[in-house]
Amino acid sequence: MTECGRLPVVYAPEADERLSSWAARMAPFYAMTVSEFVAALGLKGHDVFDLEWRLSEGQGALIAARTGLSPEAVQAMTFRELGAAARMMIARKNRSACPHCPEDLHRKAAAQPWRFRCKVHGVEFRDATGETLSDRFGADCFKKLEGHAEAGAAHLDAWACGAGQGDLKAPEVLQVLTARHRRASPPNVDEQPRMSLKDRRNYHDFLTTPILRQALTVVVPEYDQVAPVLAKPVRPGLHALAQGSLLQCFALAVGAGRIIEDPVKWAVSVMLMSDAEGQGRVRQAIDAWPLSLRRSISARFWRAERDERARQSAEKAARQRQSHKYRLIQSHKYRYRIS
Ligand SMILES: [Zn+2]
Repeated sequence: MTECGRLPVVYAPEADERLSSWAARMAPFYAMTVSEFVAALGLKGHDVFDLEWRLSEGQGALIAARTGLSPEAVQAMTFRELGAAARMMIARKNRSACPHCPEDLHRKAAAQPWRFRCKVHGVEFRDATGETLSDRFGADCFKKLEGHAEAGAAHLDAWACGAGQGDLKAPEVLQVLTARHRRASPPNVDEQPRMSLKDRRNYHDFLTTPILRQALTVVVPEYDQVAPVLAKPVRPGLHALAQGSLLQCFALAVGAGRIIEDPVKWAVSVMLMSDAEGQGRVRQAIDAWPLSLRRSISARFWRAERDERARQSAEKAARQRQSHKYRLIQSHKYRYRIS
């Protein structure tokens, strides 16, 4: 290979392919490691993941000159459309797999945690075990949830690209979704697998492990029902997406979609399901929301609490009437018997 001439063989980048993926396909052709290949492009010492995040015009021009690709084609392999805050989301490898894409091909879309279908083939991604979200939720339930997930994903996308996105920013939504609204508690009966008494004794540690309880399970009860109990908690805030599984990220996108559609309703639902300490944490997360939303939430929460108190005292009164009537009947019976 000459020092600065054009490389004799250059693969065309696939649709939406990342620079790191293209370099990892090219390097073996020249019997090089990726960093040797990056050096051969004239960018010795640069990390391919840094390059694919941001490529200066000069670096892009260098790669274009060495490969004969157009500067636009080179830049298209980078994540330049994403804002700085989104970098932590970008995994080095595919987060989940499309069954029709070649294994060594890493597309940009597959690096973003709010994508659940292959951009090229349109089919559902599979997680590391080969399971799809349809398998996990059931096809009908997944179809219903997917609309909310798309709304959430569009919002996250707009945030990642730094576009205007209304009053409520993606990190503020995620803070509420990941807030611990209740005290951590061991798996409840619905969450425990069926076990014999002997197994229950053997798995005592599992049955008594406190599980973090987060608002996500209130906003997306469908997730609460299907998620394995030990893998139910997600990391706080943006880390939830950056480090979440396919299932967790999908639930977060659904939750974000629902909150964007009706923030007041969901905030109040979460607060009503919270315990005293958890309510403080949820309120703290909501403090970052715009004032007009916070006012509506307070007003609606106050009304909901008042209605709940009224319902409880009506129930109590009914119980008292009932027991009064019962006493009357009893005393009447008693009188009847003795008379
Ligand atoms: Zn595909």
